[in-house]
Amino acid sequence: MADGAFRVPPPVNEPVRAFAPGSTEAARIAAAVRVAASEVVDIPCVIGGKHVFTGVTSDITMPCDHRHVIARVHHAGPAEIDAAVAAAESARKEWAALPWDQRAAVFLRAAELLAGPWRDRVNATTMIGQSKTVHQAEIDASCELIDFWRFNAHYTASLLAEQPPVSPTGFWNRVDHRPLDGFILAISPFNFTSIALNLPTAPAFLGNTSIWKPAETSALSCWVLMTLLEAAGLPPGVINMLHGPGSKIGPTLAARPELGGIHFTGSTGVFRGLWRTVAERLDTYRCYPRLVGETGGKDFIVAHPSADPTEVGVAILRGAFEYQGQKCSAASRMYLPRSRWAAIADVVRDGLATMRMGDVRDPTVFVGAVIDKRAFANHTRYLELGRSEAETVAGGHGHGEVGWFVEPTLFRVDDPRHRLMQEEIFGPIATAWVYEDNDWDAMLDHVDGTSPYALTGAVFAQDRRVLHAASERLRFAAGNFYLNDKPTGAVVGQQPFGGGRASGTNDKAGGPWNLLRWSSPRSIKETFVPARDWRYPYLG
Ligand code: NAD
Repeated sequence: MADGAFRVPPPVNEPVRAFAPGSTEAARIAAAVRVAASEVVDIPCVIGGKHVFTGVTSDITMPCDHRHVIARVHHAGPAEIDAAVAAAESARKEWAALPWDQRAAVFLRAAELLAGPWRDRVNATTMIGQSKTVHQAEIDASCELIDFWRFNAHYTASLLAEQPPVSPTGFWNRVDHRPLDGFILAISPFNFTSIALNLPTAPAFLGNTSIWKPAETSALSCWVLMTLLEAAGLPPGVINMLHGPGSKIGPTLAARPELGGIHFTGSTGVFRGLWRTVAERLDTYRCYPRLVGETGGKDFIVAHPSADPTEVGVAILRGAFEYQGQKCSAASRMYLPRSRWAAIADVVRDGLATMRMGDVRDPTVFVGAVIDKRAFANHTRYLELGRSEAETVAGGHGHGEVGWFVEPTLFRVDDPRHRLMQEEIFGPIATAWVYEDNDWDAMLDHVDGTSPYALTGAVFAQDRRVLHAASERLRFAAGNFYLNDKPTGAVVGQQPFGGGRASGTNDKAGGPWNLLRWSSPRSIKETFVPARDWRYPYLG
């Protein structure tokens, strides 16, 4: 037993490595990628610390080379689902009773293992499994995840320090930050390894246990990180990992009476379905489940006539096409002034003429493949729609023979409410609407009202009054709002991330607001000398 008001090591953002051609780090990641691509990994479910190989499997292939199998994932059935609930329930008592600094230390150790010896393998499996370039893998699977763990330790300490400001003489008021009264169902998307790990680990800082269902297409990097957590000393049963179709596992677990909360990131439709399941079963739960979901986006770039065309064009190239537009924050609708349109379109065309698309193992590639056949088919339908109803400024085609490649594409539409300006596509397909310079105010109404989402958005202008007015006018149009910067690339500890409207509950992953959702506080009042007479003085 050790007593003390321990201070967490001050959190710092993990530096992003450059991987310059010829550098040692570039050579090391290339070697790690070769090893990862030469293996076929059997990925079990993890239940109460046991690795469970069910024998019911599906293959995981490389998006850049879709005949190349890199893993085989073992699906959970009803028995594994029951066992995972039992494991999460039985582990919670001991995990919640462990001093908070001991819990935090598991994740601080995990952060240092990831920053050091595990980094190349985690990056390599994210590259080949999720089709990320080395830079995209580094900023996600390494840096952002390390940041989540370091900053969540810091925010946990701050949250626990939240205590009642008043204890009158003779009394002591305290708040006990308990975990929720049931397991957390963590369901993660394919596109960010860091988010996938944050979903089950953030609640664990507060003493919760979880059942984690990663997206199948990210199962390889998630499995490597699950073994990293084991190496960091995570006790059995704190995080239980199940694989298989989300449409079966998700609703089954969401309907369990032991559910304490859902920590979800993914599409809006799936989150709404989970919410409906909970609403329909409300009378059956032990507690009111907390529902936290970060979902879709239709993110905008707005340029004022005073904006610099090169800066806007570069923001479109990076903001719309990095990681093939498969970021919830990716720019996908642009509002550009007629007086600057030609210059901005030239910057985008010139950039795309030299931007290489191909296998992410080639370090000169900027655009890899989209995640799978389903995404490719969906993007192909949007490309057909754009080619028939819009002007194709650049790109416009897909190539699915070897990998799921979709050309970075810019369409231009005449109707600001065209489907291409409203619907989340989640691929490298962006659409521009050109407005008349003197229609700035009416254009902002379209930005605010065209799409149901409100995740990220950016405004480019030189004129300070314009930046201020746009910021006010678009206050509810985005949960992460950028002035003269692309709308992607939020950093933990700097821009807490999340959106409103159809984009989610806006509980801001990587910030104190998220952790608050995983605590069910108990108020404790202690009276040092209890009353011995029931009569109040006014009774005489
Ligand atoms: P998805 O919704 O298809 O899948 C997410 C997870 O839900 C997966 O694990 C999947 O297996 C599971 N799932 C699927 N059907 C389910 C069901 N019926 N019940 C329960 N679970 C089910 O999303 P995706 O394609 O993996 O990711 C892309 C989506 O995620 C985009 O909409 C993107 O905007 C969003 N996203 C949002 C954020 C954010 O912070 N707002 C971050 C990343 C991704």
